[in-house]
Amino acid sequence: MRRPVSTQPVLPFEAEERKLPRLVESLAEVCRQRPLDEKVLIAPSRFIGHQVAEALARSGTPWVHLRVESVRSLAHSVAGPSIADEGLSLLSRAQALALVEQACAETLTGSAYFGELSARPGLHRAIQNTFDELKSAGISPDALPESAFGDVRKIGELKSVLAAYESLLAKGKFVDRADVLRRAVLGLRESPRVADALYLLAGAFDLSATEAELVERVSGGHVRRLEADGPESWTDNASRATLFRALGEENEIREILRRLLAEGISLDDVEILATDPATYAPILYELASEHEIPCTFGQGIPATFTRPGQAALGYLRWLGRDFESEELREVVAGGLLDLARIFPGGAPGPLPAARELREARIGWGRERSLSALDLHIARRVAEVDSARRRSDEDDEDLNARIVWLKERFATARAVRDLVARLLALPPEPVDGKVELRAVARSASAFVAGFARIAGDLDAMASSALQGLFGELETLPVTRLSVAEAASRLSDAVRGLYVAADRPRPGRLHFGDYRSGGYGGRSKTFFVGLDSRRHPGSGLQDPVLLDEERRGINAAVAPRELAMRGGRPAENLLALRSCIARVRGEIAVSHACWDLLEAREQFPAAAYLDVFRLVSGDPTADYSDADRALPAAAGFLTEAPKALDETEWWLSRTREPHLAGGRGAPAVRAAYPWLADGFTAEEARDGVAFTVWDGLIRDPIGLDPRTSGRPTSCSRIQDLARCPYSYFVKRVLQLQPPEDARADPTIWLTPLERGTLLHEVFRRFYADQVGAVERPVYDRDWKRIETIAGEEIAKWRAKTPPRSAAAFEALRDDVLVSCRIFLLREEEHCRDVAPRWFEVGFGPSRESTEPPGDPEAVRISLGGGGSFLLSGRIDRVDEESPGAYQVWDYKTGSSWDTSEPERGRGGRRIQDALYAEALEILLVRAGSPGSVVKSGYFYAGRRGEGERFAAPRNPAVTRETLTNLFDLLRAGAFPHTPTEEDCSICDFAKVCSGADLAGRRAENKLREEAGNAVLLPYRRLNPS
Ligand code: SF4
Repeated sequence: MRRPVSTQPVLPFEAEERKLPRLVESLAEVCRQRPLDEKVLIAPSRFIGHQVAEALARSGTPWVHLRVESVRSLAHSVAGPSIADEGLSLLSRAQALALVEQACAETLTGSAYFGELSARPGLHRAIQNTFDELKSAGISPDALPESAFGDVRKIGELKSVLAAYESLLAKGKFVDRADVLRRAVLGLRESPRVADALYLLAGAFDLSATEAELVERVSGGHVRRLEADGPESWTDNASRATLFRALGEENEIREILRRLLAEGISLDDVEILATDPATYAPILYELASEHEIPCTFGQGIPATFTRPGQAALGYLRWLGRDFESEELREVVAGGLLDLARIFPGGAPGPLPAARELREARIGWGRERSLSALDLHIARRVAEVDSARRRSDEDDEDLNARIVWLKERFATARAVRDLVARLLALPPEPVDGKVELRAVARSASAFVAGFARIAGDLDAMASSALQGLFGELETLPVTRLSVAEAASRLSDAVRGLYVAADRPRPGRLHFGDYRSGGYGGRSKTFFVGLDSRRHPGSGLQDPVLLDEERRGINAAVAPRELAMRGGRPAENLLALRSCIARVRGEIAVSHACWDLLEAREQFPAAAYLDVFRLVSGDPTADYSDADRALPAAAGFLTEAPKALDETEWWLSRTREPHLAGGRGAPAVRAAYPWLADGFTAEEARDGVAFTVWDGLIRDPIGLDPRTSGRPTSCSRIQDLARCPYSYFVKRVLQLQPPEDARADPTIWLTPLERGTLLHEVFRRFYADQVGAVERPVYDRDWKRIETIAGEEIAKWRAKTPPRSAAAFEALRDDVLVSCRIFLLREEEHCRDVAPRWFEVGFGPSRESTEPPGDPEAVRISLGGGGSFLLSGRIDRVDEESPGAYQVWDYKTGSSWDTSEPERGRGGRRIQDALYAEALEILLVRAGSPGSVVKSGYFYAGRRGEGERFAAPRNPAVTRETLTNLFDLLRAGAFPHTPTEEDCSICDFAKVCSGADLAGRRAENKLREEAGNAVLLPYRRLNPS
């Protein structure tokens, strides 16, 4: 929302001071002295040079015959024609990085000096920069002295990598930047130039020996260095600065925009310089777009911020992780694909399409992707074909449901089509390898054909990405694994910025403090001065330490490499140089709160330095700064400074505090859900047990004593553990989203592994052929091993493992479990005979051979009360005629049931209920008997074969169940106050946090009189 300029005196700046930077003044002097002579300004980059020239024009100094160059552009103008004549191409930075990565992959082994680090992109960039430096300084690999290196492997490896890199350059007919420089110098040595122009070096920036020679030769000796503000003069400017802090980076930028708009400051008077442009540029871009504030971005915006950039990264992750469907699902669900363009005849929405992708349960794998989708479509067809009227449905409802099922089917078909088209893009690996350029080509086709474009920035990113992948396509043939290729291309995408521009009239400029401050704008904001971002960590250049540089310089004099010092020292010097060269008013800020991590952030040392200068107290510390500075800028501001409607509304609620402010009633009236939120929080903080805590007003049909529907032990135990999670899961029937993303080191979920083991144990006893009655380890090991192998093979066909290591780990675990099972069974079965397995009872239980029964069993609760129970007993053993033991296999650890305490309150009730159920089933089957023991057998590796069986106590069981069902009858679902209960809960994210929920529940449970509905819970869980 753009508003008329406010007159609020909120801008921190003092009166404007129009004094030119020393560099611009020096240039002005030359222009006045030599107005008509040709002048060439050589700047660290043409981007900086143009800023200086424009600042000169704006200062009112007329100039003509002034050309801006950089050392690089001069070298190009000299060497360019010969490079073109020889049919060579100039390597881009992305291409150079890819070649360095390839050279490292070809030469470095795991045991090499750089070997362990070779997979890290940071190292490749550092090596790339070092090569650039060495070549620019004219230092050949042969000239590097071994004595300069503590570890001779390092120099050997650097030489090998450089040689491999040079060979790749030659193979691809490329030249890099250092080659261009070297060729330019050689050309000028052979054919010296007579220059008429005056060459002016823009201040004190470093030149390598070769660069200095180029400047000297191209200028014919007519070169002068212009004076500029030195970093030592930074204190003059800094002592006039204004400081502020903000809650998060977004509020830092919001605060700047608020101040600019409130004061009506001309945007082209303003420059924002960041310590971390990759973070701050997207924030400014978003806010500036929203508020229609024209901006230029010196480094541009990271391509990864745009839809095509995010889509490209998602596509590469999908490829790199063996077509893991969850990666593709995220791309689809994020709206990063242009489904309308892909399906012009009618596109599904991104969320329905993502849902079909998830429900197809693909997992990963090229082949599985389509076969799983085909099966999924068949299921969708069957759903449509078998749709019948439900008992509570009329014709209209049935038709609406069929239409809905058909839509899902159509979406599933569209998703299959989409996946098939995407699978056609990447190359098929040969011997597990692909060509990097083929993967780059596929990524380019993906961006061009599938990525969504919504706005100019996306369009620029799309074309820049296609250009980037196009560059990488031209590299020499490199074969590598798909994961490596995807990772290299992802690195290149992460390094891509779009829409870079220099400061323009009428536009606010944003940039990096290293290349900013040259344009002479009168208001400069330095953002990101927190200790995490500045001066940064990191030691010296990891490829060539300063000590090694000194040794090299001694051997190659007069050529030399620059000393790097530590990166923090470099960053501090660059910041001070920038502060020294800006003019006008300065504001310095930092984010004192990390909004994502919800933790404090501290100011950088440089921020404290500025504070000391501003306050005039050189001994001031962080706490002095903390006391002296105004409160951090946040999302709440004063109404006249509000950037938009939301901020204005929030400002109304500000005094005296958010919940009771004057504007609160109006805000709540306008946003009823917000009002509900306040009401809920107040109620939850109180002692009464209310609808906001898990009390439902209409609990009809929930109590199994009266509903007539069978319930199960797992439902009852869920209710006992935490009634609130039962409410979410069993009453509201919510499920947390299933994360289909697979950990490549793990095959099968705990549930799947448990199912596999249950089947092995069942078959060991129950298979028709070779079934045993009393196992003997030595005799039966082969048999159970064979069954385990067959069951593992079935799962392998159904869900292929991600890696051989994951498969072997699971197989090993299963065989160890079988060994434990068999050894314990040999002991156990000396006293009992295994009799029945997987005894199902109740509807929809698969095996209901007698004593199993398709009818549920009715469990009496005494006093005329009863309920229906369904379930499946894993194992029944006969101890003596008519005397039985009931066992439930557990394949996890025994922590949850081994201690009797854990059974408290109904958390462990299955053993008691299954004992009772079996006795009823035996009567039904016509051979009554009694259960003398009922418990749990921990047959897996983690349970170590232990058995736990608590004595039966039917009276306590009945009382427990009665209390639990009374909660259902009352519709009372309190949160558990016991932290342990939350450890296996899927709903922590929707219950206001286990800690807070637990504390509140404890509070309400104490309030005996007001919360009668909680009485059953108090009886079950006496404190
Ligand atoms: S996190 Fe704890 S309190 Fe919250 S629903 Fe889960 S078990 Fe209940």
